[in-house]
Amino acid sequence: MTEKLKLTIELVPASSWYNNLRSLLKKEMWDNLRKTVYAKCNYKCAICNSKGKLHCHEIWKYNDKKHIQKLVDLVALCTKCHWIKHIGLAGIHTSQERLSFEKLVKHFMKVNDCDRTTFEKHKSEAFKKWEERSRYEWTMDLSVYKNIEKHRTLGNGD
Ligand SMILES: [Zn+2]
Repeated sequence: MTEKLKLTIELVPASSWYNNLRSLLKKEMWDNLRKTVYAKCNYKCAICNSKGKLHCHEIWKYNDKKHIQKLVDLVALCTKCHWIKHIGLAGIHTSQERLSFEKLVKHFMKVNDCDRTTFEKHKSEAFKKWEERSRYEWTMDLSVYKNIEKHRTLGNGD
């Protein structure tokens, strides 16, 4: 029911928290990559169009039969949209960094033009899925990144 939302929660399975492109790349490579991604998104949040501080978000598709997580895209997200994507972590950070959880919920409702009930429903669905997926080990498929990298290197001519 909540699949039509523009801004959704995408929790990375606990068994897979260290499976991400960012931690595999050297800082310089990651920095180059995220600059490419910000430019691709016209220096705006890919979800709510807001400008300001951007984060490079990895979009994964999970194959629940084969337990393969495939990187499908990299997008620029504003801080709020990015925290909503990882709202499980936001729960930890709200106490640490005083990032208001309520502010995030408001942002979610505004971007999706929905009410609190829709948020709560979507959140519990996302956590249910997360619990299920956290029971398995996941294999990463990074072919998308390899293509971007190849393209980028050729495009720069260096
Ligand atoms: Zn945003």
